[in-house]
Amino acid sequence: MLISSSTLSAFLLGIVLYAMPNSSQAVDRAPSNLANSVRDDSNTLILAKNHREKRKMGGKKKMGKRAAKAPYEYFEAKGLFATGLVPVFPEGLDCPPISSPYGSQTRYDGSQRNNSHHDYHNGMDISLEPGTPLLAVADGTVVHKGTAGQLVGNYVWLHLAPQSTQLSIHIFARYQHLDEPSPLNVGDLVKAGDIVGSGGATGTTGGHFGSSGYSHLHLIFSTGPSADHQVSPDKPLIKHATQNYLDPLGLYLDKSMGAVTNHALRDLSSDQKKVSVPVRTTDGRTVPKGANLVWPLACQ
Ligand SMILES: [Zn+2]
Repeated sequence: MLISSSTLSAFLLGIVLYAMPNSSQAVDRAPSNLANSVRDDSNTLILAKNHREKRKMGGKKKMGKRAAKAPYEYFEAKGLFATGLVPVFPEGLDCPPISSPYGSQTRYDGSQRNNSHHDYHNGMDISLEPGTPLLAVADGTVVHKGTAGQLVGNYVWLHLAPQSTQLSIHIFARYQHLDEPSPLNVGDLVKAGDIVGSGGATGTTGGHFGSSGYSHLHLIFSTGPSADHQVSPDKPLIKHATQNYLDPLGLYLDKSMGAVTNHALRDLSSDQKKVSVPVRTTDGRTVPKGANLVWPLACQ
């Protein structure tokens, strides 16, 4: 007991230390702070409403809220909120759409999320048939892979360097819920459009989705200033500097906008938020031709 409580204290202290530079950064952003406080209020209202509804429904243990690990401000500074970006796929192609966007507080079926980061979605979901090939969104390197338990399942991490994304940040991308462990090995280089594994429902059974689970890709982007990182052995985690979230749609945004944080993405105009997404087709074409980024699932 002593060991676990001191480990917990060290962890919490780590969170406080981590949050500090981000909070001071947020102070420089007066207009969005104002907007954030409005968002926080509505978030609190939603949570309070859910709490009441869950109490009415009974089943305390099963329906209970997952306790948050840090105040929402910590996650807000890291970009955990909806950006409003919308994908626009090449005309004439049928592309697997987003089933639950990044930053959403609801799942693909419209139900309210319940997680330890204030119920916000920290990735982007795409529903799929089990076994559907998952594609590298850009040239990259496999930096971690494994099999975790509930909420994650089989996963593979890619490092996407600025040279391959034309963004000034380093992206660590986690593909999760793979049907089978990724066939790739740590250190493997992948080209945009290469298969990194097949999609499935691992890590999704037993909770909200019941015994059959929910077959989909959950794709997370964690960003930082350098390629330096530390893999957590036997855990689906990578530690690296900053660890901000990025809406995966931000990858495809016109680079002239230079937006590499979710705060900047959120501030774009609604026209700018329509993101043209290059894709790979199931018969192996890249549209538009020569694109060096692709959607993580092939289009028909
Ligand atoms: Zn998800």
